[in-house]
Amino acid sequence: MDRIIMHIDMNSYFASVEQQANPHLRGKPVGVGGPNDGRTVLAAVSIEAKRRGVKTGMGVYEARRICPDIICVQGDYNKYACVTNSLVLIYRRYTPLMEIFSIDEVFMDVSQSLGSWKGAVKAVYEIKRTIKKEVGEWLTCSVGVGPNKLIAKLASDMKKPDGLVVVQPKDIPAVLTRIKLDDFCGIGSRTKRNLLSMGIDTVKKLGDAPLESLIKRFGKIGYALHKMGRGEDDSPVISYYDIPEPKSMGHSYTLPKDSSDPEVINATLLRLAEQVGRRMRAERFMGRVVHAGIRTSDFTFMGKQKALNKFIDDGYDIYTAAKGIIESFHYSGGVRLVAVSVSHLVKDRQQLSFLPEEVRKEKLLLTLDSLNNRYGEFSVGRASLMQATVNKGTSGLGANRAMARFHRNNDDRSHRDVMSEFNGTPEIP
Ligand SMILES: [Mg+2]
Repeated sequence: MDRIIMHIDMNSYFASVEQQANPHLRGKPVGVGGPNDGRTVLAAVSIEAKRRGVKTGMGVYEARRICPDIICVQGDYNKYACVTNSLVLIYRRYTPLMEIFSIDEVFMDVSQSLGSWKGAVKAVYEIKRTIKKEVGEWLTCSVGVGPNKLIAKLASDMKKPDGLVVVQPKDIPAVLTRIKLDDFCGIGSRTKRNLLSMGIDTVKKLGDAPLESLIKRFGKIGYALHKMGRGEDDSPVISYYDIPEPKSMGHSYTLPKDSSDPEVINATLLRLAEQVGRRMRAERFMGRVVHAGIRTSDFTFMGKQKALNKFIDDGYDIYTAAKGIIESFHYSGGVRLVAVSVSHLVKDRQQLSFLPEEVRKEKLLLTLDSLNNRYGEFSVGRASLMQATVNKGTSGLGANRAMARFHRNNDDRSHRDVMSEFNGTPEIP
């Protein structure tokens, strides 16, 4: 049986949400950017602005030159994230197999739940109507339905705004002749250049190119390219239920310079704790035991754990426990590494919170998470986090530089790395 995959992509999302929230913006060219200082870049532009030639990523100055009456508003990520939450709740009515690809895009595997192409098409119209009715009449989406994620995404791109394009397996060859190489999600300018140098300038030629030559040129990616050229993609829609369950989650961070300043250490700890919390929530875990540790300048590692009387997944709660642990250590000299993890994990946190207050907090945290997932670590954070990390932890540094440094040091360190820290294994430079 064919797989039936939907890709839903909201149209001009941030700008549409702003127009939804402020009816006076509807039907007008709108740009959504950062603080209104004239130097900002537009993160999103409304359909009306696009029609006038304004593009996402354009500077406000340039946008105003092209479209003098464009209205630039400051982005409000919490607002978009809340709207995304409502959208996701609608999608969930159609299948449990849903992958949140970005703040305004999801993949849904409806092969089982809807069972037919006809059923899928009917559902798409229903989803579009429901979004307008339950979330906002100004919100539209483009939907692609196909036998795999690759084709579904291509299809949703074909008709904007408010599109629906269905590509069944028999239609794939015709579709592939109509698209360009860089219409594929995953073929960037460099890959395209490399393909061109091999004489491959169409999707058809990519599909016909010998697999061996692609692998020779691109390594593993060559195989993926080969499949792309044929419209094939067997990657599954990964919902959070499918991810194997870890025993603990954590992160560690090596300070750029050894420090004995409690403010620096606490700021680092807070960042790590927020990061751990975010990951736990993304994978729907809560934990009951917090581990925290430091490695001092002389490479001594000190670590301790603390069992709590409730399950937590909030970065600030993790931080509070971890801070208590680290403050109990006696050491002299500087700290070079800070580590935090949470264990005794339980799945499905939803059952654990009943109070409306808790539910609200949970929703906000989830939305912050989805934004951070798209825009990079800590692009959005609560005030206390920004305060600690930007103002105190990295005084004198631009936030971006500090964040970039944080990424470099911290990106690939999984909970296993942290556990090895706790076991006293030497740190890998
Ligand atoms: Mg979109």
